[in-house]
Amino acid sequence: MLIAHRIELRPTPEQSNYLNQACGARRHCYNQLLDHFSQPGVKWSKAAAYQHYMTVLRVAFPWYSEVSSRVTRHAIDDLDTAFKHFFRRVKAGAKEPGFPRFKKKDVNDSFALREPSKFDVDGRTLRIERLKSRLAMRQPLRFTGQTKQATISKQAGRFFVSILVETEDYNPHAPDQPSVGVDLGIKDLAVLSTGEVIPANKALKRNIKHLKRRQRNLSRKQKGSRRRAKAKLKVARLHQRIRNQRQAVLHELSDKLTRTYQVISIEDLNVQGMTTNRRLARAVSDAGFGELRRQIEYKAHWRSVTVVIADRWFPSSKTCHACGQLHEMPLSQRTLVCDCGHVMNRDLNAAKNLDRYGLDALKPDLKRTQEPCQTPGLPGAWALTA
Ligand SMILES: [Zn+2]
Repeated sequence: MLIAHRIELRPTPEQSNYLNQACGARRHCYNQLLDHFSQPGVKWSKAAAYQHYMTVLRVAFPWYSEVSSRVTRHAIDDLDTAFKHFFRRVKAGAKEPGFPRFKKKDVNDSFALREPSKFDVDGRTLRIERLKSRLAMRQPLRFTGQTKQATISKQAGRFFVSILVETEDYNPHAPDQPSVGVDLGIKDLAVLSTGEVIPANKALKRNIKHLKRRQRNLSRKQKGSRRRAKAKLKVARLHQRIRNQRQAVLHELSDKLTRTYQVISIEDLNVQGMTTNRRLARAVSDAGFGELRRQIEYKAHWRSVTVVIADRWFPSSKTCHACGQLHEMPLSQRTLVCDCGHVMNRDLNAAKNLDRYGLDALKPDLKRTQEPCQTPGLPGAWALTA
């Protein structure tokens, strides 16, 4: 299986120069090619592009050779992909087929090394062709296997490498715990049916507050001023940091769940519906439910774990886990108190219901029907009928 792992780089000033130069050369070459093939009567083909690259561009811009020749040569493949998409859309009769556009400085700047021999990874260091010293990475590559490609990109003044690995890491032994229900929350990130509570990330919350302040600060700066440019970079950096923090939290949780449990049951959260309430919307998008579900699903696939998505209308919070009786449960009510004597934290009760829902869904021959709680004070039961 091919997996991409994205890691932040810690280049020295000299190495930064090289990376900037490589991004610049790739962008320049791409734009030069696009410029040439945008002329009337000049038709795009990969062969023609290669010809133009070798006989015109490399001669006119000898500084291309200051970085790995792959960097500029891959601009041909990239532009070829862009043209292919364009032609496909033209053929399909699209109104705006989207002719390839020129690349702008500092917008999605990147370059790639697509041959395994042009780079290698060792622990927390990365070698790339033509750069004499090894680049430091913030963390080691998480997967073992043949590295296929390295893409280096720049975002908000920082460099990242995305390494594509052909790995077998993800067909291992099955997790040893049978099942878990996960209630995604607002106050806490998640509550598991085992009773474990995964708290919301405090650093993340704090940074979101900071971001608001910095955005206000930015809006007060005069347009075109140096101070504004500085403030803008600060906002972009913080944005990035928040994005990374959120991703890290979600990866940690989805990793833990798919490594531990064979069956994971989660709610089908109607994030669209929930976003109508603005304060709630904030909390929902901060928690990144949609992203979490996406991660759980694809990691579950790697690890042969089953994910059960509960029906949107399954009343996980409203149902008494002990007797099945339904209760009105406004969001402010944190504890479920049932006539049957069952008293439980709202989220834990929901998580336990989800766990049972998942197990039921996987045993279609075992129908669980709900026995109404008839005698208050006496624990009811879920009747099992084969
Ligand atoms: Zn009850």
